[in-house]
Amino acid sequence: MSNPFQNALKQLRKAAGFISLDEQTLQSLSQPDRILQATIPVKMDNGSTKVFAGYRVQYNNARGPYKGGIRFHPQTDLNEVKALAFWMTIKTAVANIPFGGGKGGVTVDPKKLSTNELERLSRGWVRAFQSFIGPKKDVPAPDVYTNAQIMAWMTDEYSQLVGYHEPAVITGKPIELGGSLGRDTATAQGGFFVLVELLKILKLDKKKLKVIIQGFGNAGETMAKILFKNKYNIHGIADSQGGIYSTKPLNIRVLDAYKKKTGSVINFPGTKNIKADKFLEQPSDILIPAALENQITEKNANRLKARLILELANGPTTPEADEKLAKKKIIVVPDVLANSGGVIVSYFEWVQNLANSYWSAEEVNNKLKKQMVTAFNDIWKMSQDRQIDLRTAAFVVALNRIVSSQKYLK
Ligand code: NAD
Repeated sequence: MSNPFQNALKQLRKAAGFISLDEQTLQSLSQPDRILQATIPVKMDNGSTKVFAGYRVQYNNARGPYKGGIRFHPQTDLNEVKALAFWMTIKTAVANIPFGGGKGGVTVDPKKLSTNELERLSRGWVRAFQSFIGPKKDVPAPDVYTNAQIMAWMTDEYSQLVGYHEPAVITGKPIELGGSLGRDTATAQGGFFVLVELLKILKLDKKKLKVIIQGFGNAGETMAKILFKNKYNIHGIADSQGGIYSTKPLNIRVLDAYKKKTGSVINFPGTKNIKADKFLEQPSDILIPAALENQITEKNANRLKARLILELANGPTTPEADEKLAKKKIIVVPDVLANSGGVIVSYFEWVQNLANSYWSAEEVNNKLKKQMVTAFNDIWKMSQDRQIDLRTAAFVVALNRIVSSQKYLK
């Protein structure tokens, strides 16, 4: 499997070439400011103690405190966390919010832990990195297989350690503990706003477009529900156990209830099961990767049917695949733009926590729409002006913003 951090650096170098970034700045952006690693001991329910590898990578804070989620996954390692931290640096600059980039993780299969063990691990992560995080330093959030409950334990642990209530240390919290309305749906909602803008420009009619989505978690499932509500036709969905496809559009409400009952989308009545490695190649116009990185590679890029890819997942497309997709004139809306709704509403949550004053769902949604549409227009214009793909355009816009704030700090 290709190394996601090497892929991230290839993307950086490609974009740097378009703005003649000087060698010193390129070097400084090619490595994180700080890499934190810790072993986290967790008392298991059977009385034994297990040790887990925990990470926090603080990539760049030229534009504001480090910002980025914490992933709990068996394949999480330092290279993955570094890549995700780098993409956060680009993403916060694309979204034009006053944050830098960071990311955290634990190498663990959380599905194998009891709720109590998961709580002890989450609190252990905070104890390990407590002195490096904080509302003005580094603000974590959820990512794959972490959620609002985990953020609640983490915020509570941090507040106990510092001795006062500090909700602004972490975003993605439950509403009752200072979370923002709209945070749980923000990533998908933001992706949807971008998709609508793009279809307008391309003059494409949603009714004639087939959508397939890989991943049925926070990002993928919410996107499926929003698209279904807005009368888009979704023909395929995949989760970690496999995919399903149907020539007739799926009823997402019924599928959602089915997944809740059975634990997976597979064997959903009226559909064909599709092996995981063939799912992305199913007939579609819009492909939405919303699971993990390295899914669209040089091996399958030429077999994809979609004409438009909206990356809700982080890093789903390798640089080699990007080249192939560009040749086939497939439009890729890059992760750093398409899924930036999550970090934008995280920013709103942080602002509300610091002000101790809370917004309505409508206010959050209107502000999110404005921010996403502006980011999309900035990047679309850059891609048209320079005749470059949207990913490179997003990197160019972001790098210009990062470099122009760094120049005051030299
Ligand atoms: P999640 O844990 O809620 O869901 C992950 C989903 O992916 C699950 O449905 C799982 O079954 C599925 N999955 C795992 N392996 C798969 C495979 N091999 N094939 C198909 N499906 C598979 O996680 P999430 O928060 O929805 O995150 C998904 C992606 O979106 C990640 O890349 C994450 O970094 C990115 N993202 C999420 C947010 C957010 O706010 N949740 C924000 C920005 C980016």
